[in-house]
Amino acid sequence: MRRVVLAPKSICEYEGLIGEEAVSEIKELAAPLRGARVLHVNATAYGGGVAELLPSLVGLKRGLGLEVEWRVLSGDETFFEVTKKLHNGLQGMDVGLDPSDRALYLSTLEGNLEVFSQDWDFVVVHDPQPMGLVGLLDGRRTGHWLWRCHIDTSTPEAAAVDFLAPYIGYFEVAIVSMPGYATPNLNPGRTEVVLPSIDPLTPKNQALAPSLARQILATRFGLDPERPIISQVSRYDPWKDPLGVIDAYREVKRRVPEVQLALVGNLADDDPEGTEYHAMTLDHAAGDRDIHVFSTLDRLSRDELTHALEINAFQSGSDVVIQKSTREGFGLVVAEAMWKRAAVVAGRVGGIVEQIEDGVHGYLVSSIEECAECVAVLLQKPELRREMGARARERVRERFITPRHLADYLRILRSF
Ligand code: UDP
Repeated sequence: MRRVVLAPKSICEYEGLIGEEAVSEIKELAAPLRGARVLHVNATAYGGGVAELLPSLVGLKRGLGLEVEWRVLSGDETFFEVTKKLHNGLQGMDVGLDPSDRALYLSTLEGNLEVFSQDWDFVVVHDPQPMGLVGLLDGRRTGHWLWRCHIDTSTPEAAAVDFLAPYIGYFEVAIVSMPGYATPNLNPGRTEVVLPSIDPLTPKNQALAPSLARQILATRFGLDPERPIISQVSRYDPWKDPLGVIDAYREVKRRVPEVQLALVGNLADDDPEGTEYHAMTLDHAAGDRDIHVFSTLDRLSRDELTHALEINAFQSGSDVVIQKSTREGFGLVVAEAMWKRAAVVAGRVGGIVEQIEDGVHGYLVSSIEECAECVAVLLQKPELRREMGARARERVRERFITPRHLADYLRILRSF
């Protein structure tokens, strides 16, 4: 397992956002946990929401005196094909999982046990990829084991649940992102709901003037800053529905002929489906010169800082941000765009519903037609975009920034 090295981060940096009292409360919450050895395990340090969340949370816990380590599973593409099936199965897709999948899953996890030669007070397992580790540690298992599930498990497919059933009983708590995700068959007896968050102090979320953002979109990505830009930032994945976004754009184009669409997505290390879905997206764009499909295979940088600033530019510089997901654990990209005062049109699914109150902080949609209608309306009404964007930012400040998330975690660790 690869160790992700992170410097401690001070909670005091957030005082300007949350106030002195909230900073003191977090310090008090953390005080009894000083010195606690906490291990976070997930499947990738690059791409996707978990890789986005952990640096801030782990850095802050370290800054508060906890001895936290973040480790990433080692596995080859065949392993990640199995775990992507598990991920899709938990989100309700009909996937076939057979005994050879379990054999491959467990043999890969067998090669990831060295980190357990030391004792841990808490082990936080993110998503299904590392879950099976717990069953391989007879006699070597120490501390409290927590399963942090970031995906929508409200209607899981039976094969995925059966696959994970032998491991769930070892955990003391499942932490889900929405109340409805607590599935009886994946419940170790105790479930906590913790909403995810974005970190306003990272380069991705720092203030970037829309005019400068549009300049970046023009010079680096070839978009015309004088014409309307709509965009979706997401992995190339069926649940993110990039093909549906293209269909909605085509409807919008009938009413707003000068509109341009940017689809922006990296290819995550643990997501072998990405390349295939990226190719399907390009096919669906069918050479339309106003559809720009960017990925880390071409224009989008793989350098972490540059990449973050590029994503920031798309979220800050677009006239309308779309997130047309058909399933979504939470959808950090929605909060990221809202924080930048973007007018957002997003799927009425999963954690997105928790973020946007329809018509207040953006629009929630359930079809291509609805999506196109809301995007067209927003493109035609700049004042409405500004009002929604302003409310969206406040919504995120109140509910979806890192310190609240950190406090929720600390409370759970204190409960043992
Ligand atoms: N992201 C990124 N580059 C991309 C696409 C996504 O950095 O090309 C980031 C995005 O900004 C967000 C995270 O990856 O922080 C995606 O999290 P989300 O919860 O929206 O979706 P997930 O990929 O976890 O399903």
